[in-house]
Amino acid sequence: MAKRISGTKEWSVESVNIVLGCSHKCRYCYARANALRRKQIPNHQAWGESYFRLREKEVYKRRKNVGGTVMFPSTHDILPQFLEPSLTVIRNILEAGNRLLIVSKPHLECIEAICREFECYREKMLFRFTIGAISNEILGYWEPGAPTFEERFASLKHAHDKGFATSVSCEPLLESDNVRAMFDTLAPYITDSIWIGKLNGIDYRVEPGAATEAIRRIKDGQTDEKVRTIYEALKDEPKVRWKESYKGVLGLELAMEAGLDV
Ligand code: SF4
Repeated sequence: MAKRISGTKEWSVESVNIVLGCSHKCRYCYARANALRRKQIPNHQAWGESYFRLREKEVYKRRKNVGGTVMFPSTHDILPQFLEPSLTVIRNILEAGNRLLIVSKPHLECIEAICREFECYREKMLFRFTIGAISNEILGYWEPGAPTFEERFASLKHAHDKGFATSVSCEPLLESDNVRAMFDTLAPYITDSIWIGKLNGIDYRVEPGAATEAIRRIKDGQTDEKVRTIYEALKDEPKVRWKESYKGVLGLELAMEAGLDV
């Protein structure tokens, strides 16, 4: 039976990571939940604090051509304090002949540096900025260490204006009541696609002590009925793509091969 494709495999055939932990400290972080399950961290608080270091070997590792898209990063973000090693690994991935998908809740200084350094690799690169809400109150609650909406939007505009291919991930969608306005705001700066998906595994991933009201709001925003309403509102927009969590509800065909990005 064909393997079901989900998560990062919908977008890439391989992921590269160079940092353990992440100072964005998103309350729903799947990488942190996995680290906790594997006993790599003693508790949620350790993520991005006591558990936060560069994996030097991964930075300088010789990269192969994987014959598809490589995603960088997937279990941390591109953070200003690790910008130089991030630029090194991006160069290694590109010089090996790979296509590169950069996924980030972007810090503007990092995106400016990447655009500056890799202008000549533009055709092989695609940015995907995670922007699940416009409201900084919502972003600040769920992603307390990550940049504001304004900084993410400025990063998207910058990459777009520098001639790079751009896309947005609204996964997890945190502000489902505002999805049309989000789309209309972001779409002019998106050349490729805008992905919409649920916050998966809420009960497993979300850290204990998260506000009941905030969780209720997320759950209310991703019921089957709400998913269908959002689909109806955006289904005719050619740039919109639906993640596996939405496709399942909508009865849309699931990807059966890694990295197809459809
Ligand atoms: S940016 Fe990604 S890796 Fe970092 S804490 Fe948030 S979800 Fe986890």
